[in-house]
Amino acid sequence: MTIADLHAHTTASDGTFTPRELVELAKRNRLQAVAVTDHDTMDGLSEARAAGKELGVEVIPGIELSTTLEGREVHVLGYFYDPDHQELRDLIAKMREDRLNRLDKMIVRLQQGGLAITKDEVLNEAKGAVGRPHIARVLMKKGYVSNIPEAFDKYLGSGKIGYVERLKVTPEMAVQLILQAGGSPVVAHPGLVGKDELFDKLVPLGLIGLEAFHPDHPSEKRAHYAKLAEHHGLLATGGSDFHGGGAEHRGDLGSVHVSYEVVEKLRQKAAYKGWN
Ligand SMILES: [Zn+2]
Ligand SMILES: [Zn+2]
Repeated sequence: MTIADLHAHTTASDGTFTPRELVELAKRNRLQAVAVTDHDTMDGLSEARAAGKELGVEVIPGIELSTTLEGREVHVLGYFYDPDHQELRDLIAKMREDRLNRLDKMIVRLQQGGLAITKDEVLNEAKGAVGRPHIARVLMKKGYVSNIPEAFDKYLGSGKIGYVERLKVTPEMAVQLILQAGGSPVVAHPGLVGKDELFDKLVPLGLIGLEAFHPDHPSEKRAHYAKLAEHHGLLATGGSDFHGGGAEHRGDLGSVHVSYEVVEKLRQKAAYKGWN
């Protein structure tokens, strides 16, 4: 059987493998196809695609957009979109700017609160996208807290001194934008969101799939979401959410996978045909 892993990160976001290293591993793990789905960026795609051509591994263009719904994070995956679509590019640029500004603001607030941390220390903790987990690690190293959850409880969580509201992107916006860019939108790891009502809103907008198979879904959740996908007429997708063994590590590349047919369907359903 030919298999594909539809969820993997590189150093373009918070993974520890470069795009090329990811593709090399995909080849070693005998995957026919791997999707590069970095958080809020398509920066890893061209290197991965070039390596894929050279090594004979199909690299599926993807992205994982961070959105929020009633204070909860919802990740929306997009596949086979037009990488030159202006509105999608604009949103990604805005998200990046927001993340960087937000980091500056958070650090200033913590400094004003009497914590001796610097932006450089935080940037040193991050390889790609910088965020609160990296600040938390600095706070821990400096002895302000003894673990990461405590850093969020005391300083970084909603309403705490170091907290700065982020740019609001809703799951609806992300789904619509991926569709406008000619891509196939899929809700990532819905079991981590735990709000199945979400699909009643997103399916009528044109949602294509949901990620039923994910390392953080135990087998009963996989079965539940496979059934829910069928109920809504969605594709049941899956992937390892590979991060390369760092702090965000979920599973080995290909440890969760789907049959290649799912790739064909995601491609067919995408309006943009420029990747063929
Ligand atoms: Zn995610
Ligand atoms: Zn992910």
